[in-house]
Amino acid sequence: MSAQFVVFHGSVVHTPTRGSLCVLPSAIVGVDGAGRIAFVSELKDQDVHHAVKTAMAQSGIGEDTQFQLKSLTRGQFLLPGLIDTHVHAPQYRFVGGATDKPLMEWLNHYTFPSEARMKNLSFADEVYRKLVKRLLKNGTTTALYFATIDLEPTKLLVDICAEYGQRACVGKVCADINSPSFYIESTSASISATESFIAYVHAKHPPHSPSFPGGSHPLIHPVVTPRFIPTCSPALLAGLGALAARHNVRVQSHISESLDQVAFTRSMYPLDSPQHFGSDARIFDSHGLLNKAVMAHGVHLTSADLQLMAERGAAVACCPLSNVFFAHGNLDVKRCWRENVDVGLGTDVAGGPLTTLVQAMRWAVGNARQIESTKTAAPAADSPSPVISWKDALYLATLGGAKALSLDEHVGTFEWGKEFDALLIDVNPSWDTSWDVFEEERGAGTGAGIETGADSAESDIERIEMWVEKFINLGDDRNIADVYVKGKRVAGCA
Ligand SMILES: [Zn+2]
Repeated sequence: MSAQFVVFHGSVVHTPTRGSLCVLPSAIVGVDGAGRIAFVSELKDQDVHHAVKTAMAQSGIGEDTQFQLKSLTRGQFLLPGLIDTHVHAPQYRFVGGATDKPLMEWLNHYTFPSEARMKNLSFADEVYRKLVKRLLKNGTTTALYFATIDLEPTKLLVDICAEYGQRACVGKVCADINSPSFYIESTSASISATESFIAYVHAKHPPHSPSFPGGSHPLIHPVVTPRFIPTCSPALLAGLGALAARHNVRVQSHISESLDQVAFTRSMYPLDSPQHFGSDARIFDSHGLLNKAVMAHGVHLTSADLQLMAERGAAVACCPLSNVFFAHGNLDVKRCWRENVDVGLGTDVAGGPLTTLVQAMRWAVGNARQIESTKTAAPAADSPSPVISWKDALYLATLGGAKALSLDEHVGTFEWGKEFDALLIDVNPSWDTSWDVFEEERGAGTGAGIETGADSAESDIERIEMWVEKFINLGDDRNIADVYVKGKRVAGCA
């Protein structure tokens, strides 16, 4: 799509609140040359061109503005782009394998050697290009990345995301203790390299671009990234907390992930030591690292931890399949929500052997069912259910992730002023006839079951809801026809 005004006409779906789906069976979405949404209007029986002209006039867009009309066909709909809140870019090399060890052993055996290899820039270039292209193809328009402890390959990841047009938050990993000799840095080197990295990203993607109207929101953001408490000395944590505050940048790390990790942290901060803070959350907070942070996993967070995170505006990245392999439990998403903690969804490449949030959505729903089904005692009648729906899962993968990353003013739903990060989903591929069953039941396509008036509008919404549910439960990249970031087509199978 060139830098011109484009109007999409067709079905539009998003989740402006948890658990609810907003379906516009026939809508027009105007996207300006800078990739921002200029209007979203629902059509009743109006002529499309007339409706576009009306929407343009109401939006203060000149009557003579030329536009390209992109009409969606039956079985196609727009979804907000998916937001992956936890990806280890260098681990893409072994994603899908290395599923045989507990977390602390897995790190030493697979992860540290693989991450260290990224020092070789040509190798890193190959791995990162494949990863970014793969994630975009799978509909991930925004990713929160851990890179490695090395500055140059981390800068390379930023440049590759920008080249392919993926929105990204990227962190140089920090680790000054409890790491192998070939993959460790000094405290001062870790802090100074992190500051250099922030300067590099801010120089290329200035953080203070004027928002709508005028300029656009930066595509890439730097993130202060202590790997996790076991590999970071108190001095490093304190230095990184100061950096995050000074440069007003996000923080990401891992928190209360698994029983072996929690035990390791306890051994570092024993109960009777003056450094004892009580939990991962308290340790991060004591070093200024919880403010607006995105913390991965959080399976073993206490209620007090969650309350502290809510006070600091910190979010959890739910990594449902990774939790199955490493965390000794599942994250109760609804418990986080009850404590007012935002939750995004993560693949956790490569802790989670998957590269698509479409599968992660399924696992999130399944994990919640597992929590429900493995309760040892009959729950009290007023006990809150942990079960989440596919609509909740879609919220996690879109607006939930945007909120976790403090990007919800810019992406996550289709609203005026936001940037057009979107997927054009097509549920009419010839390879899977199961999509058609619901249509046949209703008699659609033959005209026999087509209703009129209010009933017709209701059945349109029901049908589209079924398409979305089927996409989440059965779909893959073959159903993702187009992927847009900031209004620009960056991937897709069409
Ligand atoms: Zn991780």
